[in-house]
Amino acid sequence: MKTLRFLFAMVAAKCAALGLRLLGRNATYLPGLIAVKLAPDFIGHLKKPETLICVTGTNGKTTTSNFITSVLKSTGKRVTNNSFGSNVQAGVAAALLLNANLFGKPKNDVAVIEVDERSSLKIYPYITPDYIVINNIMRDSLKRNAHTEFISFILNSAIPKESTLILNADDIICSHLAPQCEKRIYFGMDAEKPDHTEGMAAKDIVYCPACGGRLVAEYIRYNHIGRVKCERCGYGTPDRDFTVTAIDRENGTFTVNGEDYKLVNDNIVNVFNFCGAIALLTTLGVTHAEIVKAFETAEIVKTRFVSEALGGGRSLTMILSKGQNPVAVSRVFSYVSKCEGDDKCLLVMVDDKADNTNNVENTCWLYDLDYRPLLDKGIGQIIFAGKRCYEHQLRCAMTGIPAAKTAFVPEVAGSVNAIDLDRFKDIYLLYDNYLLDDARREEKALKGRCGA
Ligand SMILES: [Zn+2]
Repeated sequence: MKTLRFLFAMVAAKCAALGLRLLGRNATYLPGLIAVKLAPDFIGHLKKPETLICVTGTNGKTTTSNFITSVLKSTGKRVTNNSFGSNVQAGVAAALLLNANLFGKPKNDVAVIEVDERSSLKIYPYITPDYIVINNIMRDSLKRNAHTEFISFILNSAIPKESTLILNADDIICSHLAPQCEKRIYFGMDAEKPDHTEGMAAKDIVYCPACGGRLVAEYIRYNHIGRVKCERCGYGTPDRDFTVTAIDRENGTFTVNGEDYKLVNDNIVNVFNFCGAIALLTTLGVTHAEIVKAFETAEIVKTRFVSEALGGGRSLTMILSKGQNPVAVSRVFSYVSKCEGDDKCLLVMVDDKADNTNNVENTCWLYDLDYRPLLDKGIGQIIFAGKRCYEHQLRCAMTGIPAAKTAFVPEVAGSVNAIDLDRFKDIYLLYDNYLLDDARREEKALKGRCGA
């Protein structure tokens, strides 16, 4: 009976995928949605590819899974992934079903699947990944993800004990996930060790989850990323198997376990992501030379981070900055503050457009967002665009950012006109996922103003 239901769901989903293709549209998650609606345990009936890799965690899933996919493809493997669609249950089902024949047998040898943390309970009970890469566990949208303990609970309940975990050692929440899994590989960073022991005001972990003792930091890089140890029971940061020991920004390289790799993007969060990917790839037997070659051609960050010259000595850097996610946006503020230059201007478009148009928007994330990097003297102008601009104004005032260098524009359209191009040369445009079209339009308008 079960099998019949699966076959029916498979035929319906394949027909939907074919229909979409005939209409000239890419197969999105719709076929997957049909499949899981008709057979909730659909994924469980598919035969697992030879190697199934899942990538999960709060930040960096897409960058990491796209990179792993492109490296494996460049080594000649046939790889399926869900980068075209979504990372929730239907998106995962869509990717796996497109890779399967009618009876659920996979066409490609390897699947690299990005999995939204909250979807874990609907995915892992049905299919056991060989490897799960977990980048970090941070506070995210309160509305969608509640808090890190809730997300940890979901992952601990869902992750199969047979999977090998590739974990960020420097994230004390991430490194202790799923204790039922014995096969654990840790990655992290020793380079550019900070000398401070404080992260943001908002902390996701303060006390030892094992005994309730205070967690004492050797150093904190940001948020709870760093090295910590419980003062009572010794619970703490595990030893690493893969370590970033050096970052050479001048020559554009970083070093993991004595081997150099190209530094595609020097934002520290991305160096962590690449180290996690290198840990997995090396474990899979991919050689250093193969990874290095793939770094040259990988199109990993183009949609998330683009920097270009505008003419007249000006530059534009566009950075995806997920709204509702205080850690992601804080990291981008911090990154821009550390970029070279004394003429920096930020145009910040991080409103949750979908929420403030159709839904209920929660703005309390702005009070977890760390505005202090914006005090940097090299940043001369900061423009907040969108309906929530005055909420940002309050936060800027609370942080002590001089009013003279800020501007608040309620309409995103045309916000680029507020940039003082006579004074500022390096423009950074930070935009939310849902504002990609708006960002492209403003980018075009800016180029028009610069005559580029
Ligand atoms: Zn303890």
